[in-house]
Amino acid sequence: MENKKIAIITWHAYNNYGGVLQAYALRQAVSKLGIDNVDTINYKSDPPKVFRKIRFKDLATKFLVRNNKVKNLVQQNSSKFDNFREHNFTYTKRCENATELFLLNDEYDKFICGSDQIWAPTVFNENYFLSFVSDDSKKISYAPSMGLPVIDNKYIKEQIKKLISKFDSISIREEQGKNLIKDFTDKEIEVVLDPTLLLNKEEWNEKFKLEENNNDYIVFYCLGGKNKHYKIAKEIAKILNKRLIIIPGNIFDYRREEVQNVSPEEFLKLIYNASLVITDSFHGTIFSINFNVPFITLKRFKDNKLSQNSRIYNILKKVKLENRLYNDNIKDFMENININFNECNKIIEEERKKSFDFLNNAISKDNKNLGNKTITNICSGCGMCAAVCPTKCITIKLNENGFYSYEIDKERCIGCNKCKKVCGQLSTQINEIKEMKLYSAYSLNEDVLKHSSSGGIAYEISYYGVQNKIPIIGCIYNLELNRAEHIIVTKEEDLLKLSGSKYLQSYTVDAFKEILKLKQAIVIGTPCQISSIDRYLKSIGRRNDFILVDLICHGVPSYNLWEKYISKYKELDDVKFRDKKYGWRTMTMSINSQYHKNENKDLFYDLFRTQVVYNKSCYECKYRAKTNADIRIGDYWGQKFKKEKNGISMVIINTLNGQKLIDKLINDNKIKADKQPIEDYFKAQQTINDSMPLLYNQIIAELKDEKTSLKEISKKYCKKELRQNKIKKIIYRIYSTIKGR
Ligand SMILES: Cc1cc2nc3c(=O)[nH]c(=O)nc-3n(C[C@H](O)[C@H](O)[C@H](O)COP(=O)(O)OP(=O)(O)OC[C@H]3O[C@@H](n4cnc5c(N)ncnc54)[C@H](O)[C@@H]3O)c2cc1C
Ligand code: SF4
Ligand code: SF4
Ligand code: SF4
Repeated sequence: MENKKIAIITWHAYNNYGGVLQAYALRQAVSKLGIDNVDTINYKSDPPKVFRKIRFKDLATKFLVRNNKVKNLVQQNSSKFDNFREHNFTYTKRCENATELFLLNDEYDKFICGSDQIWAPTVFNENYFLSFVSDDSKKISYAPSMGLPVIDNKYIKEQIKKLISKFDSISIREEQGKNLIKDFTDKEIEVVLDPTLLLNKEEWNEKFKLEENNNDYIVFYCLGGKNKHYKIAKEIAKILNKRLIIIPGNIFDYRREEVQNVSPEEFLKLIYNASLVITDSFHGTIFSINFNVPFITLKRFKDNKLSQNSRIYNILKKVKLENRLYNDNIKDFMENININFNECNKIIEEERKKSFDFLNNAISKDNKNLGNKTITNICSGCGMCAAVCPTKCITIKLNENGFYSYEIDKERCIGCNKCKKVCGQLSTQINEIKEMKLYSAYSLNEDVLKHSSSGGIAYEISYYGVQNKIPIIGCIYNLELNRAEHIIVTKEEDLLKLSGSKYLQSYTVDAFKEILKLKQAIVIGTPCQISSIDRYLKSIGRRNDFILVDLICHGVPSYNLWEKYISKYKELDDVKFRDKKYGWRTMTMSINSQYHKNENKDLFYDLFRTQVVYNKSCYECKYRAKTNADIRIGDYWGQKFKKEKNGISMVIINTLNGQKLIDKLINDNKIKADKQPIEDYFKAQQTINDSMPLLYNQIIAELKDEKTSLKEISKKYCKKELRQNKIKKIIYRIYSTIKGR
C-alpha cells in the first residue's frame, strides 16, 4: 500500500484504561497494514450540556475529589496515563475546536473515527462523525459503538442519519448498532471487532512484557462503583483464598485498601496474570477473553431501553461465553470457574481477519477528490468572504437554525481561494490576551454613558474617528428588517445609532464591501467579524491603516428566538437590549420605550444567558481569550466595580495603535482610564466555551414551531439552570467578600 497519512479521532485523552488501550490498538492495527504515518487527533471534547437534576452520586463524586488523599491518587493516576500516551502515541497538532480539526484536511489522506462509544446519542458530538472532513471519500468509521439499543430523540437521530450517510467506508462494533443505522446509508455496514482484539495475546505480551509467574490474585475492575459488586468480589476471593486487587474504575475505588493505582501497561499485566477477573467493564471483559483469563462479568446497568449493557451481551454472545454473565448465584460460578477458550479463540481469529480486511480495503480505496467548496466547517457568518469574492458567487443568508452563514453558487466559483484567505475561522495566529494590558475606563460625557451599554468607550473611539474624518463601521438595529446590521457612519449626528449592544448576529456584507474601497476606517464588531477583517487587511498589507475594535463576546442567539420574541409586537419603533433604567449591571430589555424587563424576568434573556441557542460557532469560539483587534472592549463585570452605577468598561490593548488611541482619549479628557491587572479579564469574563446542548436541534425546532410558546421553552430548558446559576453567584459573592476581592 502506498504510504498514506492517516488521522484517527477517538477518545484517547480520558483516563480510562479501555479507552486509551483501544485508541492505542487501532493505531497499531493500522500500522500493521504497512502505514507508517498514523496520528491520533489531539482533540478532547467536553460532554454536551444536558438538562437533568443534580444526582446524589455527582455530588458525592465532587465531594470525594476534594479529599486530599483521593486527589493525590487521582493525580498520580493521571500522570501514569499521560506517560503512557507520551510513549505510545503520535499526535496531530493540538485541535481545540472544530475549525482547528478542519485545518487537518490538507494534511491527511484518510480519517478514521472509532472505536469506543464515540457515536453514543447521549454524548452526541458531530466531530466524532468526521463532520470536519470536507471530502466524504476520506471518511472511514472503524468500530464506533452506539452504546445504546435505541436512539430515542428524533432530532439527534436525524443528525446522526445525515452524518452517517456521508461515510465512504463504514463499520460498527455491535450488531445492535448496525440495526440502528442500517437505513441511514446505502453502503454496506460491517460489524467488526473492538480494536483491542485486533492484537492477539502474543502481540500484547511482546509489546508490554506482560507475562509474570505470580497469578495468586483476583482482579476487580468495575466502572459502576457499586458496593454490591465489591461485596461479591470479596466473597469470591475468600472462597478461592486469593488476594483481591482492585484496579480503580471509578473515584469510589480509591477509598478501598485493595486498590492499586496502575498505569495502562500495569492494568494489562494485572489482567494477563490474574487467576480470575471480576468486572462490569466492556474492556475488562474483552481483555480477559483475549488473554484467556477466567472472568465474571457483572451487570453495570439495569436492563431497560437506555441500558448500556447491550455491548457486553453482544461480545459474550459472539464468542459463545454468555454463561460468564453473573446471575446472582455465586455457587454456580464457583463450579464453572475455568473456561475452555478454544472455540472462543477460533471465533476471534476469524473475526480478526474480517476486521483487518475491512480496514485494509477502506484505507486502500482511492480518494475521489469531490471538488468540495467548503470555506470552513464552522461559519460565524461574518460576511467577509462574500465581500471579497471576485465573482460574487457567495451569499450570506439566514439558515434554518436562524443564523447568517455562507452559501456558494458552485457554477460561478472560479476556485481563486480568496474566501479562504480572509476567513477568520481559519486563522491560526491569534494573540493571547494574557500577555496584554488592561484598563477600567468610562466616558466623561454623561449623555454618552446613558446611551451606551457599559462605559461608552465604543462611542468615544467612534467620535474620535469622525472628528478626524475616519469612517466608522459599526452595528445598528434595523427596525425595518428587524435585524442587527453593520453600516458606515461618517457624521457625528449618526453616531448614537451605533451605541448599545444588539445581542444578535449582525448582517455585515454591504458595509464590509466598503472596506475594500476605504483608505482607513475604524471597525467595531464581534471578534469573529474583526478576525476576518484583520486577515483581509494583512493579506493586502494595509492592516496599520485601520483601527479594529472587538467586543468581549459570549455569543449570538438564533434569529428564530428573536422572531418568536418580537412576534407579539405589531410594529417596533425602538429596541434597546441594554437599557440602563435599573442600572448598568442589570441587563434590561426595552421595546418601544414601554416594555422594560430586567434579565431575570425577560424570556429573551432566559435563553440568551443560558446559551442554549447560540450559533454553532459560539460553542467552538476561538476568541474567548485571544484577539487580533487593536483594542477589545467589554463590561467590567466582577466585584471590583459593583458600586458603579452608570457603566464601566474593560479595555484590553493589543497593539501600539490601540495604545496610542486610548492614550489620546485619556489626554483629551474624553475618558477616565486606570490600569488594572490582566487577571481581572480571566476572573470576570467567560474564557472557555460552553458546551452545545445535547438537545440543541430540538430547542431550535421548538422555536420555529408556532404552537410552542417561549415561556414553555424557557421553563423546559432554562429555568433550572438559571436557578442553579443564581445559587452559584451568591456562593461566589460570599466567597469573594470573605477573601476581600
Ligand atoms: C453579542 C454580544 C455579546 C457580548 N458579550 C459580552 C460579554 O460576554 N462580556 C462583556 O463584558 N461584554 C460583552 N459584550 C459587549 C458589551 O455588551 C458592550 O458592547 C461593550 O462593553 C461596549 O460597551 P460600550 O459602552 O463601550 O459601547 P456600546 O454603546 O455598547 O457600543 C457597542 C459597540 O458595539 C457594536 N455592536 C453592537 N451590537 C453589535 C453586534 N450585534 N455585533 C457587532 N457589533 C455590535 C456597535 O457598533 C457599537 O460600536 C457583548 C456584545 C455583543 C454585541
Ligand atoms: S474560491 Fe474565489 S470565486 Fe470561489 S467562492 Fe471563493 S472567493 Fe468566490
Ligand atoms: S469568512 Fe465569515 S461568512 Fe465567510 S465562511 Fe468564513 S466565517 Fe463564514
Ligand atoms: S462567541 Fe465567538 S463566534 Fe460567537 S459571535 Fe462571539 S466571537 Fe463570534
